[in-house]
Amino acid sequence: MSYDKNNIFAKILRGEIPCKKVYENDHVLAFHDINPQKKVHVLVIPKGEYIDLNDFNSKASDKEIVELNKAVTHVANLVGAKDKGFRALTNIGSDGGQEVPHLHFHIFAGEKIGKMVS
Ligand code: AMP
Repeated sequence: MSYDKNNIFAKILRGEIPCKKVYENDHVLAFHDINPQKKVHVLVIPKGEYIDLNDFNSKASDKEIVELNKAVTHVANLVGAKDKGFRALTNIGSDGGQEVPHLHFHIFAGEKIGKMVS
């Protein structure tokens, strides 16, 4: 499967679709999920074209990998989850429930997140 340049997050990265930005640097963008599942629900995405975590880990540079990991913690801190914690997760493929084929970490916070899976 090749990267779909017309996926919704690619359009957000190109500025063709707006987002509620939380954080941005040279390597990552973080924005509020359009359909929040918890009080705080933010997505952290790499700027590079990666379908999912497997694609990212096989193709991304060490710098990109470090930057994305650090951004998850940084963004969680920005949204006030430093003390009480949060859940970070990424869905991969159809069994994983991935809908948008551009790697993204969900950050859920602001309340008890509850059961790990349902
Ligand atoms: P996943 O099922 O892991 O691929 O999650 C995709 C997420 O992207 C869902 O939580 C959607 O609500 C979210 N989403 C879809 N379109 C947008 C958008 N335009 N802006 C922000 N979040 C979006």
